[in-house]
Amino acid sequence: MRQKFDLHVHTSASDGSLTPRQLVERAKELSIATIAITDHDTIAGVTEAIEAGVGLGVNVIPGVEISVDYGPGTMHLCGYCFDIADKRLLDALRRVRDGRASRNPRIIEKLNALGMSIAMEEVAGEAGGDVIGRPHMASVLVKKGYVANIKEAFDKFLAKGASCYVDRMRLERGAAVDVVRNAGGVCVLAHPSALRLPSESSCRGFFIELKKAGVTGVEAFSSHHTEEENAVFVRLAGEAGLFVTGGSDYHGSSKPDVELGVFGETVSAEIGTIMAAMSRHAGRPLT
Ligand code: AMP
Ligand code: FE
Ligand code: FE
Ligand code: ZN
Repeated sequence: MRQKFDLHVHTSASDGSLTPRQLVERAKELSIATIAITDHDTIAGVTEAIEAGVGLGVNVIPGVEISVDYGPGTMHLCGYCFDIADKRLLDALRRVRDGRASRNPRIIEKLNALGMSIAMEEVAGEAGGDVIGRPHMASVLVKKGYVANIKEAFDKFLAKGASCYVDRMRLERGAAVDVVRNAGGVCVLAHPSALRLPSESSCRGFFIELKKAGVTGVEAFSSHHTEEENAVFVRLAGEAGLFVTGGSDYHGSSKPDVELGVFGETVSAEIGTIMAAMSRHAGRPLT
């Protein structure tokens, strides 16, 4: 029987609603054999998840999701199987988190200027770790009745281009790849539909560029994609010589439509094949 897996999940260390341990328990309930923890710009949840995984018999892979400089869409890179004590990686992630922290008060000022009463302490109260960002502001806006739901909070106020958006420091693409690889990890492009590339040929060209920059895989299977998009990204990844992974981008109750382990009806990727590809690129065996 094929083993279930999910290589893109968030915990309360960033903007997911479950603690790392609760997340691993959920994976166990759903008979998911392997998960990767990919919090935004932090690996603070990884150790707890690995420890919980050992007890419950769930294979937990260290990971991180890094937002990199890109426009007009968004580009997220997932790093996997790096040394979780690597100083350069930890420093780079800290710089990105600092960038988010210095931007938060500026968004709050804009929300206040539009007449919404929201304070940084309330926003911090929504977060489970030291990654505090727009999803936590969105939760406060919902709780206080300024918007009906998280989506409305982003659409009206928080999304790129919306009235209260403020940009933040992101790593340059090459720097993000280098820092993950230097820590012994491999880089995978997350949910390529977010790039908003205008055509298949531009996407193929972009994948080829990424491959030259040291990215080795593509999250072709994603809950962000339609079945058709999944199939297109599998084909384009193959043409560019990139291996294919899959992930749900699970956030728990912060994104209630997305379930752990679900990223398409016709997933053809196998966890054994993915781990073999990652081992090849990392230059050492990974389990
Ligand atoms: P930040 O880290 O503050 O830049 O916020 C980015 C996070 O907000 C992303 O990782 C998503 O989880 C969430 N997000 C971004 N855009 C939207 C949206 N339109 N609707 C809901 N959540 C979003
Ligand atoms: Fe998120
Ligand atoms: Fe993402
Ligand atoms: Zn994600």
